[in-house]
Amino acid sequence: MEKMDKRPDWLKVSYNKGAVDEISNLMANLKLNTVCKEANCPNLGECYKKNTATFMILGSICTRHCRFCNVSKGCVEAVDPNEPQHLAEVVKKLGLKHVVITSVTRDDLEDGGAAHFAKTIQAVRELNLATTIEVLIPDLKGIVAHLDIVIKANPEVINHNIETVKSLYSKVRPEADYDRSMYVLKYVKDKAHHILTKTGIMVGLGETDEQVYEVMDDSLKAGCDIFTIGQYLRPSKLHIEMKEYVKPEKFVEYKRVGEGKGFKYIASSPLVRSSYNAGEAINMGKER
Ligand code: SF4
Ligand code: SF4
Repeated sequence: MEKMDKRPDWLKVSYNKGAVDEISNLMANLKLNTVCKEANCPNLGECYKKNTATFMILGSICTRHCRFCNVSKGCVEAVDPNEPQHLAEVVKKLGLKHVVITSVTRDDLEDGGAAHFAKTIQAVRELNLATTIEVLIPDLKGIVAHLDIVIKANPEVINHNIETVKSLYSKVRPEADYDRSMYVLKYVKDKAHHILTKTGIMVGLGETDEQVYEVMDDSLKAGCDIFTIGQYLRPSKLHIEMKEYVKPEKFVEYKRVGEGKGFKYIASSPLVRSSYNAGEAINMGKER
């Protein structure tokens, strides 16, 4: 186990300020949010340099309080009806081949934001015929009518992150439910087999290898195609404590074991986030 007071070399990343400022200004002008910025993602410099970003719709304030997450919590904002069109325009401007769209959880909205997701998918598709679309959705409380709205909009990938092992849920994600999240993945795959499904976890929160493999097994039972694993990095002292810097070799082992279990694609390394190199993951997922 690495000492926690100093970030190990394998987690040090370079930062391209010019590229970051350029994309940040473009987003701000169109009142768009990215999870890259809101979650303080360590890959921001690299991804923005490659004109890659994960857009966050439905505002920047979440109704839930996951203890690892840097997204703001509190009084939610009104949904911007122009957001789908603005996002579609930015995708065009950046020339994205693959776009990842996520959202805060909006438990306050009647449909959890499902219709807004669908409108955004449609708007992006209309303006960007060749772009593949991945949505990283909240659990929508597991309500099938709401999941159906997103499924009907037919994105290439539906991702719903499990985030951590089952035993840590109450500590890490107090308002979420492991079995409900697995159900979401299963429902999507059963309903629309052609849509690639994807999930992921963070490690370094004190989970055991056996627990990681249990999440993999449960995800496979839910029909999940793509799995991602990355290191949890504590955003501040107010967030849940990190227990361990998991070594790169362990991530290689997770990938080997997971691929052996039958996932179409696994991204596993310290800096992996569910949207990191997402375009590559979907191509690999389709090929197998
Ligand atoms: Fe954004 Fe994802 Fe890249 Fe992080 S890994 S900067 S969230 S696109
Ligand atoms: Fe963060 Fe998502 Fe949890 Fe909200 S539901 S606090 S955005 S991880």
